[in-house]
Amino acid sequence: MQPIPLRTTVIGSYPFPAWLEFASANLEQFGSDDIAEMVDDAVVAAVHDQLEAGTDVITDGEQTRLDFNLSFYGYLEGIQPEQASPRLWGPPAHDQRGKHQIVGELSAPHGLGAVTEFRRLQRLAPASEGSPTLKASVPGPYTLSGRLLPNRQYPDRYAVTEALLPIVRKELVDLVEAGCTELTVDEPSMSCYAYREDPTRFVDIFNRTVEPVIGRCRLSTHLCFGNYKGHPVGFRRYAPMFPAFLDMEVDEIHVEMANREYSELEVIGLIAEKRDAAVGIIDVKSYFIESPRHVAETVRRCLEFAPADRLAFAPDCGLSQTARWAARQKLKNMVDGVHVVREEL
Ligand SMILES: [Zn+2]
Repeated sequence: MQPIPLRTTVIGSYPFPAWLEFASANLEQFGSDDIAEMVDDAVVAAVHDQLEAGTDVITDGEQTRLDFNLSFYGYLEGIQPEQASPRLWGPPAHDQRGKHQIVGELSAPHGLGAVTEFRRLQRLAPASEGSPTLKASVPGPYTLSGRLLPNRQYPDRYAVTEALLPIVRKELVDLVEAGCTELTVDEPSMSCYAYREDPTRFVDIFNRTVEPVIGRCRLSTHLCFGNYKGHPVGFRRYAPMFPAFLDMEVDEIHVEMANREYSELEVIGLIAEKRDAAVGIIDVKSYFIESPRHVAETVRRCLEFAPADRLAFAPDCGLSQTARWAARQKLKNMVDGVHVVREEL
């Protein structure tokens, strides 16, 4: 059950301020102290915007993952980073993001960096009574495996996934031990490819990943259809995932609804029989700014399928691919719209 009926939440990422984008592309001009200060400043900006919107849950906006070395792959040993994007020109899309080669045993002796990120968020976010809950997001092993090329040692994507699984699992345990009470394991690759893979196999992978933190934090998963450079990559239907995905050992399942014009909205009723449903009610791929009234009407539609204490509302995906001015307004309108209906309860 939701701690607050019709809770408002976010998916991990938030747009970088322009200066952070510029700095990320020119990191050689900055010293390590400059970068540390810059990252703090960027998290302060992301926290500020979320506090201003008034969401019940906030993240660090993933403002720190600004180059390969600070990405999850930068923490992995046994890989050789891709040297150049395979397609440099033309419309921005996922095919410009290459794959890394595996050249040794996969390991992450210093973790994946998420604990450091979470401690930074704890330091910079307000901690007084009534402050929003701080959430950490970590990609699950199947999603993380998508950018690693199988080789002789790890012959297919599932073998790579199995090698990453204990690494992600340890990160989740370390986050809980650092005081994280709200944790999302992002597995958008599972939602993108459930139509052509065995969904029960995905559920088994997921449950083994989260096993040591079940019951120790509020656990959720984010199942979208891709948003790199603002484009989906999956077959955008939830039907192939259910009922199998109801067996995922989570408190909350997040689904992308707004960009699909709320098709299959009845899926949230199915989820709500067993788990909480977090509804993507804000389209991160469109510059149509949903008004509070539009949001409120959609919340009322959701209440036809699931009770208020089973429902949370969020953008469809992280906001990192949406311009900051639009992201701010969308988030604010989302909260305002949800509050209108919360007052009617
Ligand atoms: Zn997503």
